[in-house]
Amino acid sequence: MNVKSKKATEFINHQEILDTLEYAEENKNSRELLRQILDKAHEGKGLSHREAAVLLECELEEYNKEIEELARQLKEKLYGKRIVLFAPLYLSNFCVNGCVYCPYHAKNENIKRKKLSQEEIRQEVIALQDMGHKRLVLETGEDPAHNPIEYILESIETIYGIKHKNGAIRRVNINIAATSIENYKKLKNASIGTYILFQETYNRDAYLKLHPTGPKHDYNYHTEAIDRAMEAGIDDVGIGVLLGLHTYKYDIAGLLMHAEHLEAVFGVGPHTISVPRICFENAISDDVFAKIVAVIRIAVPYTGMIISTRESEESRARVLALGVSQISGGSSTSIGGYAKIEAENTAQFEMSDKRPLSEIVKWLLGLGYVPSFCTACYREGRSGDRFMKMVKKGQIANICQANSLITLKEYLKDYADEAVQSIGNAVISKELEGISGNFRVKAEAYLRKIGGGERDLYI
Ligand code: SF4
Ligand code: SF4
Repeated sequence: MNVKSKKATEFINHQEILDTLEYAEENKNSRELLRQILDKAHEGKGLSHREAAVLLECELEEYNKEIEELARQLKEKLYGKRIVLFAPLYLSNFCVNGCVYCPYHAKNENIKRKKLSQEEIRQEVIALQDMGHKRLVLETGEDPAHNPIEYILESIETIYGIKHKNGAIRRVNINIAATSIENYKKLKNASIGTYILFQETYNRDAYLKLHPTGPKHDYNYHTEAIDRAMEAGIDDVGIGVLLGLHTYKYDIAGLLMHAEHLEAVFGVGPHTISVPRICFENAISDDVFAKIVAVIRIAVPYTGMIISTRESEESRARVLALGVSQISGGSSTSIGGYAKIEAENTAQFEMSDKRPLSEIVKWLLGLGYVPSFCTACYREGRSGDRFMKMVKKGQIANICQANSLITLKEYLKDYADEAVQSIGNAVISKELEGISGNFRVKAEAYLRKIGGGERDLYI
């Protein structure tokens, strides 16, 4: 393995993953080694892929409990109680790839193909703004004829430009196919937030079988895409695997090696890690899923961790406690699903959590979290290594907490019913007490201003 190499085969080295899995299997119940690894993990500076693999394999109950408890503590220390909310916006399901697990694959004739016009995007965004959303992830299939980069750029401009009542989309993250440095530069210039690209699986043989046709078949081009995005100047990137495609042990080792590579080459690891789970050949249980979340939180403490509405309410509640820091809410995975524009039979996947955003907010408040619509960091220039340094020093939790309360107040004023307003306002008063120094003074002042009608205030 060569962590600094720009070649996929070298920074995601197959033999190194096999050796790691063997090492983890041999040492999974070695109390001495587990103690060493956990002592290191308690420092909050992360773990290597080998150390994380041992924790993932560990069968000893007392250590597994400690792993869960530590994941909980690290998350709260680094990010506080806030849970950031976002929604996916599907622009087009035209796709030239052949991913065997996705209904958008090119040969599927049983699905309706649809691409939103700029006017339809406007309607979708207004519907999202009316729910209270401020942060989106754009999703499209890969299709140079239907969804060229110009279409994506125009759509981003449309979205940022829509100001409806008090609504605004303040951060547009992008989840589109691997592309060239030139195109990534264009996305960077369009002021995107995070560029997200899932690896699906790091195992080359499995990857080639699961992606038999289309440009996505090229494992190296896909695996090296995040490097190209960072070379193009995008400094917040998101990675992830589709758990269930291949064995999770292999894929989590690969995922952590990818994070190590980005940190070694660019000085900054992934801004987010997503853990979507599907029921495919290697479907994993709820217990294993929870452990994966806890181990990633310990191994890469600084990263934001995302789960989608693929997960049920119960599963989401469990992993929120173990390290997930961002969730989607009130989502639609159809093209035109928010404004009900001929959306039937265009969905990418069936959601488990179909609750509207208002219910998700109420639920999070009830669980003791602070639902956050914050988009402050990117807009304040806290991105890339500057952001990571602050998280690693524990300096973001206070800012997150203040901004979560400010944006929650905005949500309560503009979108919540009376019952949620009263729960939310009580949470704001209580949580303000936990913010220290100047941040608290500022947060109090901004909360008053929002009460008086001002909007879009942040620290
Ligand atoms: Fe296309 Fe993405 Fe679906 Fe593959 S996973 S078929 S690239 S939309
Ligand atoms: Fe995210 Fe920064 Fe806002 Fe915290 S303060 S929620 S890290 S944008």
